[in-house]
Amino acid sequence: MKEIKVQTTSRTYPVIIGKNLISHLSNILSNIELAPTKMMVITDETVSTLFRDRFERELKTIGIDYFFHVVPSGEKSKSFETYYECMTAALTNHLDRRSLMIAFGGGVIGDLTGFIAATYMRGIPFLQIPTTLLAHDSAVGGKVAINHPLGKNMIGAFYQPHAVIYDIQFLETLPIDEIRSGFAEVVKHGLIKDPLFVDWLVQHVHHLQQLKEEQLLTFIEKGITIKAEIVSEDEKELGTRAFLNFGHTLGHALEAALGYGRISHGDAVAIGMLFALYVSNQTFGIDLGYERMKEWFQKIGFPTSVHSSISSEQLCERMKNDKKSVNNEIRMVLLENIGTPKLVNFDEKTIYSLLQQWRGG
Ligand code: NAD
Ligand code: MG
Repeated sequence: MKEIKVQTTSRTYPVIIGKNLISHLSNILSNIELAPTKMMVITDETVSTLFRDRFERELKTIGIDYFFHVVPSGEKSKSFETYYECMTAALTNHLDRRSLMIAFGGGVIGDLTGFIAATYMRGIPFLQIPTTLLAHDSAVGGKVAINHPLGKNMIGAFYQPHAVIYDIQFLETLPIDEIRSGFAEVVKHGLIKDPLFVDWLVQHVHHLQQLKEEQLLTFIEKGITIKAEIVSEDEKELGTRAFLNFGHTLGHALEAALGYGRISHGDAVAIGMLFALYVSNQTFGIDLGYERMKEWFQKIGFPTSVHSSISSEQLCERMKNDKKSVNNEIRMVLLENIGTPKLVNFDEKTIYSLLQQWRGG
């Protein structure tokens, strides 16, 4: 069992990583000095079908009153309707300010539950028990939100959990596409912070189908450590937290241009990271091992180029409208070196020609 501390101005909390951790839930609660009056577990249909019985066995041993609230699986649950239904369930079950909410699921459940916990009676404690690889990223850092029809994550808060319990036993049932999607964020964490970790990944991870348990634990722990460091430095994204956006400028544009759900977030970010590496090479005149990274991505199963049905004009338009862009310029996270990120603004024309060159090359 490994423990990483996240230290923010609003709260310091542990991220505990290991296997079969939920059997220690009672101990974990007392270590973080939580003695809730009641617990509400929010989960989705898929996770409920797979793991509810196992989780309930543990909950029963704790001796605190609890109930489950199950929402549909997928992004659609980050909605006003689901938020409202969860609030109604919390109220009718008489949760009070000393009750605990538990997010048991992937990033969708974490973001939704966190926002409910942040706003129920002006804020009650919550735990993250992530069940996807992507959630090594989303469960750490306290960004919680639901979507508005006009934009993703538009209604939200910075609200840190009391603990994150990352139990890798839950990853065993995760489909390969979801593993790959989460793995892209692991690679991103390495590229923006730790060249030795990137080398380790390239040397040790050749496919994602049958990952060894120690490998999985190693890269999850490293990914979380990097995320925790960045969040501890800059909780509210006033500076260095923006580096976590590496690969996301083109990645988000691609997801939006193709239509959400047509490409996984991680696959889009993988393509975005290759483009960001290419732009870094061109801008700083150094070779960051672009070809090696591309070959490795192909081996892992990531797409490495933008589908020809999407035009570069379309992508530039989307990148310009990104909520992080300023004055019509396109802001990208580049690498001066592996592990040394830098924010750079470009005008649209420059990005357009770089995109065309990269796609033609
Ligand atoms: P998700 O929660 O929808 O999970 C993906 C799918 O896997 C779902 O269908 C789910 O039911 C299923 N699933 C979950 N656990 C499973 C398991 N153990 N076995 C089998 N199936 C399982 O999505 P996600 O990819 O985990 O997260 C994506 C969400 O995270 C997005 O909404 C994104 O905006 C958000 N996110 C938030 C942050 C943040 O900082 N808050 C960061 C990155 C992403
Ligand atoms: Mg991401």
